[in-house]
Amino acid sequence: MSNLEADIVVIAAGASGLAAAIAAAEGGAKVISLEKGSTTGGAGNMGMGPLGVESRLQNEKGIAITRDEAFQIFMDYTHWRVDARLVRAYIDKSATTIDWLEKMGVEFIDAKAYFPGGQLTWHLVKPTTGKPGPMASGTMMKIMTDRAKELGVKILLQNPAQKILKQGGRITGVQGEDRSGNPVQANAKAVIIATGGFGDNPEMIKKYTGYEWGKDLFSFRIPGLAGDGIKMAWEVSAAPTDMNMELIYMMPGEFDPALGETFRQPHLLVNLLGERFMNEGIMPNTTFTGNAIARQKDKTAFLIFDENIKNHMETVGYDEKSVVFPFTKVENLDALIKDAFDKGYKDVFVTDTLDELSTKTGINADNLKKTVEEYNGFCEKGFDPVFNKKQELLRPIKTPKFYAAKFFPSAYGSLGGIKINHKTEVLDKNWKVIPGLYAAGTDACTIYGDSYVFVLPGNTMGFALNTGRIAGENAAAYIKTIG
Ligand SMILES: Cc1cc2nc3c(=O)[nH]c(=O)nc-3n(C[C@H](O)[C@H](O)[C@H](O)COP(=O)(O)OP(=O)(O)OC[C@H]3O[C@@H](n4cnc5c(N)ncnc54)[C@H](O)[C@@H]3O)c2cc1C
Repeated sequence: MSNLEADIVVIAAGASGLAAAIAAAEGGAKVISLEKGSTTGGAGNMGMGPLGVESRLQNEKGIAITRDEAFQIFMDYTHWRVDARLVRAYIDKSATTIDWLEKMGVEFIDAKAYFPGGQLTWHLVKPTTGKPGPMASGTMMKIMTDRAKELGVKILLQNPAQKILKQGGRITGVQGEDRSGNPVQANAKAVIIATGGFGDNPEMIKKYTGYEWGKDLFSFRIPGLAGDGIKMAWEVSAAPTDMNMELIYMMPGEFDPALGETFRQPHLLVNLLGERFMNEGIMPNTTFTGNAIARQKDKTAFLIFDENIKNHMETVGYDEKSVVFPFTKVENLDALIKDAFDKGYKDVFVTDTLDELSTKTGINADNLKKTVEEYNGFCEKGFDPVFNKKQELLRPIKTPKFYAAKFFPSAYGSLGGIKINHKTEVLDKNWKVIPGLYAAGTDACTIYGDSYVFVLPGNTMGFALNTGRIAGENAAAYIKTIG
């Protein structure tokens, strides 16, 4: 067993762990970070950027949203079913966190909404290579890792933490393993848990959220996010919280992003009964769409369009342009579909008749025909009396071939597990602070109630960075009080 000494041990070096380690080291603490993976960053490497409210960039661009407004939007959305003090602490800190990251060398290129009508809070990271887009935030993780090392944080990769040590009610360190599998003990006065949730643990997903990964949920599985920190916290008497998935929706499997964007356009969306169940115009709000799909039979739905609509998407272009994959039209859909079929892709369908489409997909054939007839009538009148879909999105499904893709709920990851207060101190079942124990990021993210607050985008990475920072600052202050 090798023994290490620190003031503070941060369990993990993902988005929240890095923020915590830097903040603690800036507060004068000697910090060790035990990271299970062979690189830092965790899911923080995957995205485009965090939330900020009242940042320098927003002020320069004349983006008017204030912290008070963001807080109000947040609390209205969640019906005050979440910790308002924690929400307030996070939103209030978010602009200074953007400044803090900029001082380290992170560049933000723009502040965007995820979908029309959303708030311009998503601070898009400028990557060192290429354009802002998926995985751009990896650049931020790299800069944060360098900053942590510069401050003397000892980051031990492939050193999974396994157990939090507690003596006389006080946290005293962490046990784990080094990269050769030998036991390691890191003694410390405070521990910050930041292990990113249980998105890579199908058993925990099933047990705590009810979804069966690979059957009715196809969420991102970032290797190593197995719920370790949550379980370690519970073992030292931390109170559990509601646990949830950060729901969106998805065509499962691997395919060209242009194919994915084509089938996310708001055409006709039906369930297995052959019925419409939402205003397809809402589809860019992937959380709302994920919620609606999760309520359908077998938690599945199909997006359908015809040859005319296909031609429209190839010539005129898309109705909805995504910030993540900003294609304006599809170049050659036949080739994309052929490529997907050649690779064995099974969740896209091309048929000559609606009956054939029903046979291939399992959609109720009679209902599908009735729904298409009714929908085509709405298109003719230019008015959808059922869901009030915008007139410009109403295009009839008439002309073979017919195209469909199958959707399921997905998620960026899990949410929640460890109860914290607005100072990120971990609470026990009696709501008493466990002295010296802090948690940040996804492991402790319970501020959304039942649905991800995508109307204020950049939210989970924003929560991770800001709670990480709060945890690091408070842990550094705490260790000074106990000598
Ligand atoms: C594809 C994708 C795109 C996304 N885009 C965005 C976006 O643009 N904006 C946004 O706000 N959010 C986005 N997110 C979500 C965001 O990345 C996460 O919310 C954020 O990274 C969570 O931070 P975290 O610190 O809690 O976890 P992570 O960043 O995942 O870090 C967790 C770390 O814990 C380590 N770990 C696990 N167990 C142990 C252990 N036992 N011991 C030591 N270390 C351990 C892991 O290896 C990992 O490094 C995206 C997520 C995905 C999957």
